[in-house]
Amino acid sequence: MFCSLRYCVRTLNKSSVLVGFRGCSQFAEQTQSHFGKNGHYDIIIVGGGATGISLAGAIAKNPKLSEKKVLLLDGAPKFKGYSENTYSNRVYAINHNTVRLMKDIGAWDTIKSIRCRAVKQMQVWDACSDALITFNHDNFIGDVAYIVENDVLVHSILKELEPFDNITIRNDTKIDNVQLEKDGLTYSKVQLSSGEDFSAELLVGADGANSLVRKQMDVNYFALNYNQMGLIATVELGECEDNFVAWQRFLPSGVIALLPLSDKLSSIVWSTDIKHFKQLMQLNDADFIDAVNNAFYQKYEKNSMVEFAMGAVRTILNSNSHSVRQLPPQITGLYGKSRAGFPLGFGHSSSYAGRGVVLIGDAAHRIHPLAGMGLNLGFGDVKCLTDHLARATYNGFMLNELSHLCEYEQQRLKLNVPILLGVHGLQCLYNTDLSPVVLARSIGLQITQQMAPMKKFFMEKAMG
Ligand SMILES: Cc1cc2nc3c(=O)[nH]c(=O)nc-3n(C[C@H](O)[C@H](O)[C@H](O)COP(=O)(O)OP(=O)(O)OC[C@H]3O[C@@H](n4cnc5c(N)ncnc54)[C@H](O)[C@@H]3O)c2cc1C
Repeated sequence: MFCSLRYCVRTLNKSSVLVGFRGCSQFAEQTQSHFGKNGHYDIIIVGGGATGISLAGAIAKNPKLSEKKVLLLDGAPKFKGYSENTYSNRVYAINHNTVRLMKDIGAWDTIKSIRCRAVKQMQVWDACSDALITFNHDNFIGDVAYIVENDVLVHSILKELEPFDNITIRNDTKIDNVQLEKDGLTYSKVQLSSGEDFSAELLVGADGANSLVRKQMDVNYFALNYNQMGLIATVELGECEDNFVAWQRFLPSGVIALLPLSDKLSSIVWSTDIKHFKQLMQLNDADFIDAVNNAFYQKYEKNSMVEFAMGAVRTILNSNSHSVRQLPPQITGLYGKSRAGFPLGFGHSSSYAGRGVVLIGDAAHRIHPLAGMGLNLGFGDVKCLTDHLARATYNGFMLNELSHLCEYEQQRLKLNVPILLGVHGLQCLYNTDLSPVVLARSIGLQITQQMAPMKKFFMEKAMG
């Protein structure tokens, strides 16, 4: 009763503005300046990466929000689609929460029908000490994760958006300026280099790590450059019975992961310093494949103090975990010209929300790819923001109202910050071969490996 009464009042307030706008020319002039010259929307999403388009999809498929008028602006050219015959080199490990979001949007069936690989087991080990941790379906309900190509993911989400006339997507749009309510406007505005300008009750910054929207919000942004590049490539495998294991080895110079894509193909993500990255990119294909195999198989000199201490830990834990270590399949070739690189860094915005504006995805937080969490956190933002906007709309609040945007922020900070710090901590912990650090991390890994509930706890936090 209270909620519906409040809803009526809010709706009345909003429509009285519109009636005034139509009825009185002087008022209309004053009010019009608050609206964009070229149109007013309920929501403008800046950025059409995976998080931006999935927010549009989640809004379209939510019954309480499905009639909202949404404009999505992206600087990149229109998406060309996925290739039926060729695997793309840009892949993500996605967790169960992400799968649930894709199901809500309606994209999961399409993803599965095109291409997607279930990871049934995972092995992570340290080159400096051989300490390892394994995960399999015993630690989860169902598969550990799924490996999905970016193009397949984007195609499947965009397909779900096609029937919605109230969702407009514009590509190749360069945004020159963003103005927010804090700048004295009634509604947030974006101005395009074409001269057009649009306003919205809610502006969402989904515009990646260099977010223009975030810069306009005047929030503090803590950023670190890892001085590393993430080298990605698709590789062909030799003899391999069933390619469903994800492998990750921490090396003295970085971390390398091998993620299953098909029976015969896997994707690698190799984080390493810039000099080494450049060397790897310049190698011919055969030498590059040798370097990748070396990264997984090469034996590193062990520190005798660490070896001794690890032996003692195994005895105390009554474990013979040396024997369970497996080796990844031999890599035999590079798939097409699939080598590419991305700079790696850490970033976190002190705030995700302001009046009429909110941040999601890499615009709010940037994380090292060693745990494959960046996009999963972004999708978590999408789900949480959609839920809060739906609740606010149902309760008669306007979308730009700070209270529910702050609730979104609080909820996401609580979940994102421990993961961001945890992954950053791991990156620092594994970026050295100093004996005390190697010892500390090896003991930590070994104890976690032996304690099933602890392992389950960590993985549930990380994989949703
Ligand atoms: C090597 C590597 C491997 C990774 N692996 C994984 C993984 O396995 N799992 C995982 O969950 N995450 C992974 N990540 C992280 C993941 O790639 C990012 O978190 C994710 O792509 C961020 O998506 P986003 O939509 O927030 O931002 P982005 O993908 O950066 O998209 C931003 C969009 O905004 C647009 N844009 C920017 N500025 C403007 C502007 N001014 N006007 C208009 N448009 C604009 C851009 O064109 C772009 O389309 C990995 C990252 C790297 C580098």
